[in-house]
Amino acid sequence: MLRRRRLSPRYLPVVIAIGVTACIGVPDTRFGQNKVQYDAFDFEILETEHFDIFFYEEEREAAAQAGRMAERWYARLTRLLNHELRGRQPIIYYASHPHFKQTTQIGGAPGEGTGAVTEALKRRIILPFAGPLKETDHVLGHEMVHAFQFDMTQRREGALSNTNFPRALQLPLWFIEGMAEYLSIGPDDPHTAMWIRDAAINDKLPTMRQLNNPRFFPYRFGQAFWAYLAGRFGDEVVGRILNAAARSGGAEIAIERVIGIPVDSVNAEWHEEVRRAYDDLREETHDADHYGKLLLSKENGAGLNTAPVLSPDGTELVFLSIRDVFSLDMFRADAETGKILNKLVESGTDPHFESIQFIRSAGAWNSTGDRFVFGAVTGSDPVLTVVDVSNGDIVREKVLPDLGEVFNPTWSPDGSVIVFSAIVGGFSDLYSYHFENDVLRRLTSDAYTDLHPAWSPDGRSIAFVTDRFGTDLSRLSYGNYQLALMDPGTGRIDAIVSFPDAKNINPQWSKDGRSLYFLADPTGITNVYRLDVGSGRLYQITDLFTGVSGITALSPALTSAKDTDKIAFSVYEKGDYNVYVVDEAGVLAGEPVASSQVGVRKSR
Ligand SMILES: [Zn+2]
Repeated sequence: MLRRRRLSPRYLPVVIAIGVTACIGVPDTRFGQNKVQYDAFDFEILETEHFDIFFYEEEREAAAQAGRMAERWYARLTRLLNHELRGRQPIIYYASHPHFKQTTQIGGAPGEGTGAVTEALKRRIILPFAGPLKETDHVLGHEMVHAFQFDMTQRREGALSNTNFPRALQLPLWFIEGMAEYLSIGPDDPHTAMWIRDAAINDKLPTMRQLNNPRFFPYRFGQAFWAYLAGRFGDEVVGRILNAAARSGGAEIAIERVIGIPVDSVNAEWHEEVRRAYDDLREETHDADHYGKLLLSKENGAGLNTAPVLSPDGTELVFLSIRDVFSLDMFRADAETGKILNKLVESGTDPHFESIQFIRSAGAWNSTGDRFVFGAVTGSDPVLTVVDVSNGDIVREKVLPDLGEVFNPTWSPDGSVIVFSAIVGGFSDLYSYHFENDVLRRLTSDAYTDLHPAWSPDGRSIAFVTDRFGTDLSRLSYGNYQLALMDPGTGRIDAIVSFPDAKNINPQWSKDGRSLYFLADPTGITNVYRLDVGSGRLYQITDLFTGVSGITALSPALTSAKDTDKIAFSVYEKGDYNVYVVDEAGVLAGEPVASSQVGVRKSR
């Protein structure tokens, strides 16, 4: 995040919605307007070769891993950018986003869409653990690029003056943030590729001038343009262009000096290459209305329709949407017509909620269809909140002060227990909460990632997503997100068939409990697949040009009804998120996937 540019309110809703990868400088008008420090953190310092890592007790293990990640980034970026940072680099780690929001290190509370901050002058990196190790590593790498950018473009150490400030502050966001994304994620990023395909097909790829307009989300488009530059001219041009920009103060002049080609030509050649790459794909794939019915879109109401959750009988749907300009709210709609029945939570004006976790979470209906549970933050504490769907009244709320954040609750079929994922101590684990006994239980307890739990209709197993089968903690190499089943009685975890070389997320049970619908990107595009759990056979349900997506690549975007054969999902298209509903048996059966793509890894 660069604390210097305030985006005009016009762009605010869109930016809030999409600005979630690592850091973004938007004033948050909705949550936490008066910054209150709720907890005092007792920081210790972990010293590594180049870093002072500030942490507190509950994040000790995560901080040790972050120290190793930081030195690894230092080695990569020093080589790539041909620069050593001056002095020791401070990193201040919080165990979760609600803790991070209480930081007194920076002026003003960071908003929900702000993942991290790197200060231009003191060059301190201030951030929360993301939960999944791979995401924590990405956010740290992104902020570290900012530290290099500031250090490389500041002439001398010392106080800020007209002649002594990091030139990076003058450079356009696409240049600075796009570079941070490119260097921390690399050239292959299915999420950004989805954005670029969508822009290309709608003739909305930004020209050089348009790249400077924050309407073209600088993180995604900047990352794609840097990936093109580095792919064509070599990674070493990134550091050379940054150095040239520090001298000239201009992004375009710097690019032209280093690559020797007018920047408009390079920009046009980038567009041409993108279009060529996706022409055939357009013919081979379909729009979402080929598979089902468009239920929610800007045309029939409002934009940014995400996190859909079908009621047990499939007649209603809870989802998030921006219907008022500055507020992302939770609505209940008729799942046939899309007509809004009521607003369940008004996040913008309700002082009770700091956050409804709109970026990475969806809620769940109970089996009788009269209650809805979701994870939220109130004050500085995570909560499980249960509302009466007929009027949005809060009927139960469980404050979980020992957890950092709670996401994606799922209800046991008998209604007694809720299982959810939580960030605790900087890691993502599964928990259960028994309402009547008021008992909280930890189901997993390790540095591996556990997400998106979904309780089976017979109550005997919980499907979820984990990186535990491929992650090597000693080397800090991260496995893909795979599907697994947990026995809620014994806690035993078994891997089930997934695409071994792809992201597999968001499992949802079919009515008969024999199939799991889920999202995967074995082709580089996220689509809906179906696993026949008994036989281990996989079927592809959609084959989209853009992809099934929530706000981030890990956001839930798929839902199935418990008592009828029906699914709904959100699709990224025309720069927005629309919800589609599918209930045709032939479509839900899907096409068999070639067995060569399929695999299962051993349980750990
Ligand atoms: Zn950034």
